[in-house]
Amino acid sequence: MTNRHAVQRIDNFVGGQFVPPASTAWLPDTDPATGEHIADVPRSDARDVNDAVSAAQRACVGPWGGWTVAERADLLDRIATAVQARAEDLVLLEARDTGKPLHTARAVDIARTVANFRFFAGAVRHYSSDAHSMPGALNYTLRRPLGVVALITPWNLPAYLASWKIAPALAMGNAVICKPSELTPLTVNALAEIAHEVGVPDGVFNVVHGLGHEVGQALCEHPGVKAISFTGGTATGALVAAAAAPTFKKVSLELGGKNPTIVFADCDFDATVQGVLRASFSNQGQVCLCGERLLVERSLAPRLTEALVRGARALRIGDPLDPDTRFGAQVSHDHRAKIEGYVALARQEGGTVECGGKRPILVAPHDQGAFYEPTIISGLASTARAATEEIFGPVVTIHPFDTDAQAVTMANEVEYGLSASVWTSNLLRAHRVAEQLDVGTVWVNTWLTRDLRVPFGGMKRSGLGREGGRYSLEFFSEAKNVCIALA
Ligand code: NDP
Repeated sequence: MTNRHAVQRIDNFVGGQFVPPASTAWLPDTDPATGEHIADVPRSDARDVNDAVSAAQRACVGPWGGWTVAERADLLDRIATAVQARAEDLVLLEARDTGKPLHTARAVDIARTVANFRFFAGAVRHYSSDAHSMPGALNYTLRRPLGVVALITPWNLPAYLASWKIAPALAMGNAVICKPSELTPLTVNALAEIAHEVGVPDGVFNVVHGLGHEVGQALCEHPGVKAISFTGGTATGALVAAAAAPTFKKVSLELGGKNPTIVFADCDFDATVQGVLRASFSNQGQVCLCGERLLVERSLAPRLTEALVRGARALRIGDPLDPDTRFGAQVSHDHRAKIEGYVALARQEGGTVECGGKRPILVAPHDQGAFYEPTIISGLASTARAATEEIFGPVVTIHPFDTDAQAVTMANEVEYGLSASVWTSNLLRAHRVAEQLDVGTVWVNTWLTRDLRVPFGGMKRSGLGREGGRYSLEFFSEAKNVCIALA
């Protein structure tokens, strides 16, 4: 779609066909940078979920069930190549649907979508299951597909997070039903087109669009769905787990975060400022791994605050489709209202807004967009609500600490445990602090550096299970041990 003014109507993708929803009802999809209506999205319900599950079940017992690992890996490579070939088309769709800059969509979302398919093509080719020999017997473990799996994803990194689940699920021979956020359905729709073009068998790749409490809930409850891989908010994750429990589905939950960025006075200052700005404001602060809670050694706090304020003010905010823009719109006007609510709360709780804290003044049509300035707040207690609840926007609160032990205590005093970054030139301190943090990922002197083989996931209210490399391949398969007596 290149015409800025065309309203695109998208359909569900079920059994290899694009089909309208049973309800024949549609939801409007808007460009959050302008408020413009850009697409109509199916408002599907349990009938569409039933159709998709039936199509996926038929696919599992059809020829797809006999595909070899090599054939499935080649298929993923073909998807990666096709996504790469349509990359600029997908970059534009993602930027318009989410309000993120073209620059981010190109460098992060679509580049990583290609990388996910390529990576899991390689990972499954090299995957081997275990064998355990014991006196008098040999055990070996077979891995087989689960069958029909549902992949429920949020709006912040639509193609990237969907591909992070689709690729390992297909690699292990499952049939998938994707439920993207209805706010950002366009690139998952494009992935369905691509899957069709490159020869994914009918029914192996399905997309059912719609609302979470309708389509998502129906997927979680359906007895034909064997696993739910969910990325989204913590409150929704609890609903997903509860809905999936009666049918004993496997569940993977990648949930929210309130990630600490811990800066020691001995850090490489310039590199740290750049790293903290990225960790704070990438994707307009809408990455589950963003560091909303900045803990800084007291002696460095004034200098760091000043440098970050300067950096935040220099971020070029505006039209996401301008190649020079580095900071776009929030995903929706509702989401911006939530962010504004948290900044108002921070003020009530005694915080001082060092920069941002308001909407930027932009010209038409972006004066109608859901823009919000990158915001830094000091002076809040580290236990204040604005400093401990996930905002999921470009708002960072700064809290000074005096000792390593205090930094660790403050980092761990939130309910979340997704990730942290530690900035120091003292390697021993880095190891010591990393070991004590209750999070699934610790970055030292970097942020968002991702090796796709490593375990990714959260502790505490940030989730359940791990994704990445063999962790994903294991989630999307059932282990069966065979024990053979040797005597
Ligand atoms: P939500 O939890 O609101 O939604 C996530 C997905 O779940 C959407 O597709 C949504 O549909 C669907 N959903 C909503 N209700 C239900 C339900 N009852 N049953 C099944 N599915 C449902 O999250 P957001 O889209 O607002 O995304 C932001 C959140 O995602 C943040 O908390 C962020 O931290 C988290 N996140 C976590 C990541 C991680 O790896 N840990 C990565 C990225 C984001 P609908 O859109 O229609 O409501």
